[in-house]
Amino acid sequence: MLTLLKLLKDGRFHSGQALGEALGISRSAVWKQLQLLEAELGLSIHKVRGRGYQLATPLTLLDPVEVRAHSPACDWPVHVFDSIDSTNAEALRAIDRGQAAPFLVLAERQTAGRGRRGRKWVSPFAENIYYSLVLRIEGGMRQLEGLSLVVGLAVMHALREQGVAGVGLKWPNDLLVGQKKIAGILLELVGDPADVCHVVLGVGINVNMQMADEVDQQWTSMRLEAGRMFDRNQLAAGLSVTLESYLARHRVSGFSTIHAEWEQNHLWQGRAVSLIAGVNQIDGVVMGIDSQGALRLKVDGVEKVFSGGELSLRLRNDS
Ligand code: ATP
Repeated sequence: MLTLLKLLKDGRFHSGQALGEALGISRSAVWKQLQLLEAELGLSIHKVRGRGYQLATPLTLLDPVEVRAHSPACDWPVHVFDSIDSTNAEALRAIDRGQAAPFLVLAERQTAGRGRRGRKWVSPFAENIYYSLVLRIEGGMRQLEGLSLVVGLAVMHALREQGVAGVGLKWPNDLLVGQKKIAGILLELVGDPADVCHVVLGVGINVNMQMADEVDQQWTSMRLEAGRMFDRNQLAAGLSVTLESYLARHRVSGFSTIHAEWEQNHLWQGRAVSLIAGVNQIDGVVMGIDSQGALRLKVDGVEKVFSGGELSLRLRNDS
């Protein structure tokens, strides 16, 4: 099915006969595969008698050679999947198989893309970036301090460099434009954080997506913000370059040197919020983060510090 898609991706008309010949299948088999492309990948295909078939929108697919060519300083292998359950899940399996880190997993779509606490990350085919970079970390907890926040800053810069203004951060792991989510981050760790471990830096960015009924909160995409389409190979490469530079800073000097920059870009700095922890809710005002990336909230006039993967922030109406 994807071989057929690769023939169609130029956005031109192709006759059923030519497609059948190229694939070594009958015209009716071509027709069946076209139906599958529409049903499974949500693609729209024009069918015009006498001319053939044409993708409604031309596609640029991910290409590891291009990603590497645009990020020559990032010397890590790039693995691209047409379809995978989750790039983070695949990265964890690869660690398990003994694949040497660093390496990068990208996918055209995720069938079980995930956010925190088993939430779903909506991941349609060939529209967005689903990116998991695996690092091997030796020598302790300091290397992990504030790491997901550092990844957030790198993603923010990668988006701004592509011309998407107004992207900012929301503690702990979201990127927003205004109130709308444009990207999310999910770090997963295996091994012993005090000794040797592997960390998967998972990033989902809404790039060219224009419709996604299944996303149950406000969202946007680079295309919706900038009014044009983006080349995902260049974006993935740009992200690798900014990530590499932030990770190097973090490795050398720790999170404390990045802390102020993170706060400057925190959209909810000084805002009245509710912090949700399971069934509990704590109301307060965001003061910032501490030197390890934990959230500082003023609660009833007193500063309190919160950290952990189970916490969610919501703006209060009086904010
Ligand atoms: P929190 O607000 O607690 O940080 P979250 O709601 O942002 O948590 P995450 O685990 O970061 O949760 O992301 C998963 C959530 O993001 C989903 O429950 C859904 O509401 C939303 N979501 C899913 N897919 C997308 C997408 N492609 N773009 C934007 N938002 C999405």
